[in-house]
Amino acid sequence: MNNLFLQAVQTLAEAQIENPRLETRLIFADVLHCSPSEIFQDISLTSPEIEKINDMLAQRLKHKPLDKILGHREFYKYDFIVNEDVLSPRPDTEILVEAALEILHNISNAKILDLGCGSGCIIETLLKEIPSASGCAVDISANALKIAQKNADNLAVNEHLCFINANWFTDDFTAQIGDKFDVIVSNPPYIPSADIAVLDTEVKDYDPLLALDGGQSGFESYKRIAQIAPKLLNNGGYILLEAGYGQAKQIANIFITQGFDLLKIVNDLSDIERCVVLRLK
Ligand code: GLN
Repeated sequence: MNNLFLQAVQTLAEAQIENPRLETRLIFADVLHCSPSEIFQDISLTSPEIEKINDMLAQRLKHKPLDKILGHREFYKYDFIVNEDVLSPRPDTEILVEAALEILHNISNAKILDLGCGSGCIIETLLKEIPSASGCAVDISANALKIAQKNADNLAVNEHLCFINANWFTDDFTAQIGDKFDVIVSNPPYIPSADIAVLDTEVKDYDPLLALDGGQSGFESYKRIAQIAPKLLNNGGYILLEAGYGQAKQIANIFITQGFDLLKIVNDLSDIERCVVLRLK
């Protein structure tokens, strides 16, 4: 095994990086343009390669998330470009994708709206899985939309997807969208403002604040989405929302008071209530 590899594993381990061996392998594989499993063979490195590896390790030691160093991340079955303008796709959010797919399999030519699309990982995965569906991806951040657009090009779902740069707190938001949908999906910002300061460095310093900060209560975006969603959905339309820790039941109640029925709350792999599924009456 290459000495530099073992040193790198040790350096990351000493900095309390959780999976030092795996992460080192992914860094080496990225620089050497090979698959992570090939890193176990004897490898000889050129000095530009060593320099690149050391630069990536230095970024990781500052707790920059690995996906944002590598510039991409796996989500569901697909690979998404990421940068500091978008929230890194989380495995927890795959729960929402699975719940949405169950619904979408029973709707022909479904129209989907993603509120706060970020990298595009939710809606673009859905469009990839359901080729007859079409959709609209909305985000307040023009820079995030640029990444979502690149991802849509890479996944070849761009012909079924429109992008709108808009803020759901403005009065004319529904007019800006100007359409109705069968399914809304959203992973809105849900961290209470006061809790942002105590998040992990990986999240606090490298995910955009706009994608995290749910206002004083953490529920501000849900309250607003509950007001506008009935205007954006066809009768009997569905909404699937990601929930922060301990928020799911309150989110459900916010939507019930706006005319929705609660269908289910789905737990993530850590058994946390993660996805709220409701249907417009
Ligand atoms: N899941 C993110 C985190 O807690 C927060 C994402 C969000 O606010 N929607 O790290």
